[in-house]
Amino acid sequence: MKPVLIIHGGAGDGSKNKARIARIKRKIARILKRSYRILSDQNALEAVTYAVRMMEDDREFNAGRGSYLQADGHARLSASVMDGSRERFAAVINLENIKNPILTAQLLLNEKFRVLAGQGAFRFARKKGFRAVEMRTSRSIKRWKKAKDKGCDTVGACALDRFGNLASATSTGGRGMEFPGRVSDSGMPIANYATAGCAVCATGFGEQIIDEGLAVKIAVRYQDGHSLKQAFKKTFREVRLKKRSMGAIGVDRKGKIAAGFTNPSMIYGWKKNHSRTFLAGI
Ligand code: ASP
Repeated sequence: MKPVLIIHGGAGDGSKNKARIARIKRKIARILKRSYRILSDQNALEAVTYAVRMMEDDREFNAGRGSYLQADGHARLSASVMDGSRERFAAVINLENIKNPILTAQLLLNEKFRVLAGQGAFRFARKKGFRAVEMRTSRSIKRWKKAKDKGCDTVGACALDRFGNLASATSTGGRGMEFPGRVSDSGMPIANYATAGCAVCATGFGEQIIDEGLAVKIAVRYQDGHSLKQAFKKTFREVRLKKRSMGAIGVDRKGKIAAGFTNPSMIYGWKKNHSRTFLAGI
């Protein structure tokens, strides 16, 4: 089985800033390259976690340190991971002061209670040895003070490994300026879902993704006989008709990839071998 990796840097507002778009594309390409090595040597779950962790570590993206802040000026982050071979989901919701939410979500995959929020998620992360750190940056605080801390740029990754396992991972700082405690879709299966058949992850307007049941809907359509491409096409036709704003990427067990978005932009890329990287989505 040839490993396949697809990642995105968030559904955006179609920024006209050409320099920024070029920078994000370069970053997506670099992250893809490094994560594809993990996918080839290890497995789908490790690769998607690694890719998302790299995006969390990069301030350009709305995940990890430097993410958007909620209305009270706190950074509350959400991340989820799903192992398709076990059909097992885990997530952290509104986690504060832990550097890589995706790593805490990955550890939760093997626990009895697999979705933790707020203080509980923080205590679990600390118990597992993660340090408490300041997640706000001077830039995120400045943006928040100007009440300009709003947008997208959540990150996500889906992979198929050489054993035929699928996995997906998603991480976000949320929409920015939201009511404190608002729960993002990124910590729910409707934004991040994987089975033995396909893996799908979503980005965009969280409340609308929840209403749409996006990632699960696509996965169920695939399971019921649509190709992944058809499942995306049908679902995004409906999303467009409802004038909802979101995007998603996916890969199936045959290594076919698919993507769709109704936002003005979503930068994403994929790799099916070491030598070539594909970028798309503006
Ligand atoms: N879906 C995220 C949220 O609403 C935002 C995003 O995808 O950029 O929390």
